[in-house]
Amino acid sequence: MIIDVGRDDKPVALRTEEPESAGRIVMDIEMDIDQVRVLAERARDENWRFRTFIKSSDLSQARLDRAVARYYAEAAGKIDCCACANCCTVMSPQMAKKDVRRLARTMSLPEGDFIDRYLQPGQDRDTYAPRQAPCPFLRGKLCTVYEARPDNCRSFPNLHKRDFRSRLIQVVENSTVCPIVYNVLDLLKLEFWRRRR
Ligand code: SF4
Ligand code: SF4
Repeated sequence: MIIDVGRDDKPVALRTEEPESAGRIVMDIEMDIDQVRVLAERARDENWRFRTFIKSSDLSQARLDRAVARYYAEAAGKIDCCACANCCTVMSPQMAKKDVRRLARTMSLPEGDFIDRYLQPGQDRDTYAPRQAPCPFLRGKLCTVYEARPDNCRSFPNLHKRDFRSRLIQVVENSTVCPIVYNVLDLLKLEFWRRRR
């Protein structure tokens, strides 16, 4: 099985023959965003301790990434992004020049007009971000520029990427925003950490 989320980054491959039952956790997935927010805030200290544990553990990168890919597939299969849209509501995607070009073209606007109307400088040099959250391209819970959405939006919540260990700060932060991240983190804690304590 390959988690193909249409990203530029090479996705982590799951071995279908992998004996998942050995360490696999079967667990209810929490889908309610309000509940996720409360639970993730409550688990914040625990999540930072889990990060410390993972950073110093001898768990191989490959095994950890496969577990993330497995739980990501499980959570993403149960959570409907079109009924959530919380990332589009509370976060600001960072946009590179090519994203701006693509979006301006989609909206049939000159790039300069598009920037003036919707964007402000982003976190890094030569990047932009929407002037406000929720994102101006969100209508209800749907993206009106979905085909042309920024790469940053395409890759969120970034759980398909390799080397999960190096992105744990972002993961802990995102667990308060994204039900998928919250559940993957919870399942990982259960598999690799809580059962040993
Ligand atoms: S561009 Fe679309 S996917 Fe990205 S934050 Fe805005 S509404 Fe969400
Ligand atoms: S990626 Fe996460 S926060 Fe964004 S819509 Fe999907 S479940 Fe919600």
